[in-house]
Amino acid sequence: MKLLYLGTAAAEAIPALFCECEACQKARSLGRAGIRGRAGSLVDGVLKIDFGPDSYRQMLDNGLSYAKIHSLLITHTHEDHLAVDEVALRRQVTAHIHTEPKLMTVYGNAAVGEKLRGKTGEMLAFSEIKPFVSYDIEGYTVTPLDAVHCCTAEGSDFPVICRGKLYHRSENALIFLIEKDGKRLLYAHDTDELTTEDLSFLRGKHLDLVSLDCTNGVLRSTWTGHMGADRDKLTRQALRDFGAADEKTIFVANHFSHNGFPGEEELQRELPGFLISHDGMEIEF
Ligand SMILES: [Zn+2]
Ligand SMILES: [Zn+2]
Ligand SMILES: [Zn+2]
Repeated sequence: MKLLYLGTAAAEAIPALFCECEACQKARSLGRAGIRGRAGSLVDGVLKIDFGPDSYRQMLDNGLSYAKIHSLLITHTHEDHLAVDEVALRRQVTAHIHTEPKLMTVYGNAAVGEKLRGKTGEMLAFSEIKPFVSYDIEGYTVTPLDAVHCCTAEGSDFPVICRGKLYHRSENALIFLIEKDGKRLLYAHDTDELTTEDLSFLRGKHLDLVSLDCTNGVLRSTWTGHMGADRDKLTRQALRDFGAADEKTIFVANHFSHNGFPGEEELQRELPGFLISHDGMEIEF
């Protein structure tokens, strides 16, 4: 399996749209190497994960054709992961698709379906997926798990327990376990430390690549919904404790914010043994 990182930043990107902070100045000075677009990935050129506002540019930068993509997995509806009007351009007049099949199916939670309401058609479909159910998508076994994200103080929907505390979520945000030919990828963006249910589901399933949310970077994580270097290391240990990871498992830190991202080398010091993602990075495992 191959995972291509198209975009590796959080909602505001690096350098951030309206920012003059030190991290953003440094990123600008590095030119292309310092630029991180909004998060999105591609598995084997087949499964597209998330479709944020930089998807167009990422298609050009990587020589891709989204016309040939038939499966789009969406983690949650935050703007940096689902630019819904861009996805909806897969319709008559704006898209002339000659390769068969023409249909692309968007897989996501009910909130994703809500956003796509009235926008689907002959070339664009929606299919709701639920956590802890496995789906066969183009020969891959895709199992959504619960993300600890979109947490709200109010409401009673989509409860999750993180670090022993109960949270509610405005939608059932998802992370993905993707399996094929005996290889396993855990794609965990955006999320906090994994729930006990997630870990129990993964127990004994050897993961080859684990991509972990690192929005907080080198900052101490004090709020719920994302991770930084501190929680990434705890998550790696938890996966090892549950027999889902060992010394052969590749761990990647991904989805960075200019807050807490002092630069690749500095972050690497906080995360020994992790790869630090950048736009265009491809990992074969
Ligand atoms: Zn995000
Ligand atoms: Zn900045
Ligand atoms: Zn998010």
